[in-house]
Amino acid sequence: MDLSLSTWRTLGLSVAIGYIGLGSFGLVMPTLTAQLFNLHPVPISSSTTKSETTDSNPTPVPTSTESRAHASAVETSMLLLGARDLSIGIALLAFDRGDMVRSMGVLILSGMVLCGMDVYWIWKLRGPEWGTVFAVGAASWGFIGWGLVGLEGSWNSTTFSTGMPVTYADHYNDIAMYNVHLNVFEKMWAAWYAYMQNDVLATGIMSFVMHEVIYFGRALPFIIMDKIPYFQKYKIQAHKMPTLAEQWQCAKLVLLSHFTVELPQIWLFHPTAQYFGMSTSVPFPSWQTMAYQLAIFFVLEDAWHYWLHRALHTPMLYKKIHKLHHQYSAPFGLAAEYASPIETMILAFGTVGVPIVWAAVTQNLHILTMYVWIILRLFQAIDAHSGYEFPWSLHHVLPFWAGADHHDVHHEKFLGNYSSSFRWWDYVLGTEVGSASDKKTKDRKAAEVKAQ
Ligand SMILES: [Zn+2]
Ligand SMILES: [Zn+2]
Repeated sequence: MDLSLSTWRTLGLSVAIGYIGLGSFGLVMPTLTAQLFNLHPVPISSSTTKSETTDSNPTPVPTSTESRAHASAVETSMLLLGARDLSIGIALLAFDRGDMVRSMGVLILSGMVLCGMDVYWIWKLRGPEWGTVFAVGAASWGFIGWGLVGLEGSWNSTTFSTGMPVTYADHYNDIAMYNVHLNVFEKMWAAWYAYMQNDVLATGIMSFVMHEVIYFGRALPFIIMDKIPYFQKYKIQAHKMPTLAEQWQCAKLVLLSHFTVELPQIWLFHPTAQYFGMSTSVPFPSWQTMAYQLAIFFVLEDAWHYWLHRALHTPMLYKKIHKLHHQYSAPFGLAAEYASPIETMILAFGTVGVPIVWAAVTQNLHILTMYVWIILRLFQAIDAHSGYEFPWSLHHVLPFWAGADHHDVHHEKFLGNYSSSFRWWDYVLGTEVGSASDKKTKDRKAAEVKAQ
């Protein structure tokens, strides 16, 4: 493999972060981990239904003495597994800091014994879907370990000469001094890449943090609105208010999938983007260029989403993959990415793959445009799942915009309204099932008639 030393090292670091993430998850939430492995006497589904009635106590407690002992035994095992993964992760970090790149590889490769065992049990306990995801993850870790071991002898430890910029502020000032034509954001951008000295890491950290902040930050206002009586009149399915416990369960699964499925992909994003000719340099493209590219991405993603989502509703694929996303018949913001890892990969191609293909064909795409696109798409997905229809919702201004008015009905009725951003596919192909606002107006009128 002709990857650079720093790229291999970054990949090794991503394995360390993966171990630390999984280990911490097991240590902080042993019960949920055991439930995810189908090992806990109280399965996940019954604990969520239970939490609807007892909001204040989301932790599942088994009833009989025997199953309580069983529960504490599996929770202890999960703590041990968590400790195991966390210690491997810490050791990998320590090797990286000591420039012991080959040792990192040896540790990752020897960890394959554990990973193989994990994959076997996950496959057995959670079925082929999770099994495949973890097998692919383990295989990529093995590949990284093998690559690091092969670097022996070619690695020279990095030495920084004195007088060079060290802190982020140093880099910023350095760039600001010689590049007066750049605006503040362009200087901050360039300083970030200069400071990181590693483009893969710089892009990886930036995109992961951005995703988490936007996802949870955008969902938060809706969680707060649920608690404010004034906003109840805008709730589409007002009789089905999600409880905090329910939203927390959902958030935990979304976080788990972010750390296990999406994080490794985000690490691969920079090399892929560069390979297909995406630009990461300054100055940024003009807003006109960004605007027309964003419009194209919205239209193409919507088409991809329509057809693939419609396919996910065929009986076999629905049962095996898409059913999980439909667990909430009255969705809320955090449920936007509550889905099987396979579904996430299929539908994410529309969001991530479309710009990559665009970059490959046109050789004209800046990674900043990609970020803006992903932020807008996250806003779209969370709004569509928010369960709120306001007089100021976007579809009142753009009648072809979908929004919650469109997607909420899909969750309520389990069919129709398959597209993501726009209404035209469902309209033209006759899969539209009416908008929530229409229904709401009808309901309100019916209630008024009753009251008279
Ligand atoms: Zn669906
Ligand atoms: Zn949905």
